Amino acid sequence: MNTLLLYDTPEDIATAADLIRRGELVAFPTETVYGLGADACNADAVRSVFAAKGRPADNPLIVHIADIRQLEDIAAEVPPIARRLAEAFWPGPLTMVLPKLPHIPDVTSGGLDTVGIRMPQHPMARALIRAAGCPIAAPSANRSGRPSPTTAKHVMDDMDGRIAAVLEGGLCEGGVESTVICFDDAETAHILRPGLISAEDLAPYCGAVRIDPAVYERLAPDAKAASPGMKYKHYAPKAKITPVEAPSFAAFSDYVQAHAGDGVYCLLYGSDPDVPGIPCVRYGDSGREQAHYLFLRFRELDEAGASQVYVRIPRQDGASLSVYNRLMRAAGFEVISL
Ligand code: AMP
Ligand code: MG
Repeated sequence: MNTLLLYDTPEDIATAADLIRRGELVAFPTETVYGLGADACNADAVRSVFAAKGRPADNPLIVHIADIRQLEDIAAEVPPIARRLAEAFWPGPLTMVLPKLPHIPDVTSGGLDTVGIRMPQHPMARALIRAAGCPIAAPSANRSGRPSPTTAKHVMDDMDGRIAAVLEGGLCEGGVESTVICFDDAETAHILRPGLISAEDLAPYCGAVRIDPAVYERLAPDAKAASPGMKYKHYAPKAKITPVEAPSFAAFSDYVQAHAGDGVYCLLYGSDPDVPGIPCVRYGDSGREQAHYLFLRFRELDEAGASQVYVRIPRQDGASLSVYNRLMRAAGFEVISL
C-alpha cells in the first residue's frame, strides 16, 4: 500500500474523510500525539487498526468526536459529572470512559461494555471528524509498544505502507496522550492514565479525584487492570531506559559517569549542567515542557544509536505525573534509587 501524505487544505481533508468513510485508516494530528483513525462504527476498519499497530485485541480504542452533542450517540448514559467535565475541558486532552451504546462495535471497545470518548481540540482533527461525519476511533499512530508519534515523520517511520494516509500537521503541542478517567460513583473521577489535564485541574469539578495505583507501579501479573492499556509495556525506545532517583544533580552525575560506555546517554532537565564525558539530551524543566519533548527525545535517542539512557526523574504532581508515568512504563517500572 502506498501511504499518501496529505496536508491542511480543504481538498486534502476531504480526501482523508473520504478514506475514513470507505473503511481505510488515516493518521492525523491532535493536540496530544498523532492518532490512527478509523470509522469507530465500522468493525472491519477498526480491526485493521489493531492489525496495523500490532495492538492486543483487548486494548480498547478511544472514540473521537467533533461536537459535544455526539456524546449521546455513543454513550448509553452521561452522568452530570461527565457533562460538567466535558463542558469544562472539551475540546481538549480528556477522555471519559462511559457505558457504550450497542451500535459501537465490541472490537472498538476491546470487548468492554464501556467506551472511552474524547473531543480533541486540534483544528485538523476536528475538521477531519466533521468531514467524515462519523466518530473516529483512534489510538496513538505508533506500532504497539513504541513511543507515541508527535510528528508525521514518526508516523511514517512506523506506518508507511500499512495505512492509507497521514495528515501532516507538524509537531504536536502536548506530546503525551490524553488523561483517561472513569467514574467510580456520581462524584468521583478515577484517573486511569494521567495526561496534561491533571488531578489538580479536575478537582474543582468533582467531589473526589482518585489516581489509579497502576499509574505509579507495575500491575501484579494476576491483577485485573481497570484500564487494559495499563498492563502492557509501552512507550519504549530501543534503548534501555533507566530513571535515576538521586538526592542531587551531583549524585546523578557521579552515578552516570561511573556507568559510562558505548551507547550510554543521559536525558536531563532543560536547566541541568552537562554530565562530563556523557552525551546529554534534554527534555525541559516544567511538566508541560517535558511532556512536549519526551517521546521526541526517545525517538532521537534511537536514531543516535543509544543503548542505555539514564534519565533525571520527573516530578509526580500536576502535568508532570503524565511524564513520570510514561517514563516508568518505558522503564518497566525499574528505577535506580541512589
Ligand atoms: P491509546 O489509544 O494508545 O491512547 O490508548 C488508549 C487508552 O485508553 C488505553 O490504554 C486504554 O486502556 C484506555 N481506554 C480506552 N477505552 C477504555 C475503556 N472503555 N475502559 C478503560 N480504559 C479504556
Ligand atoms: Mg498508544
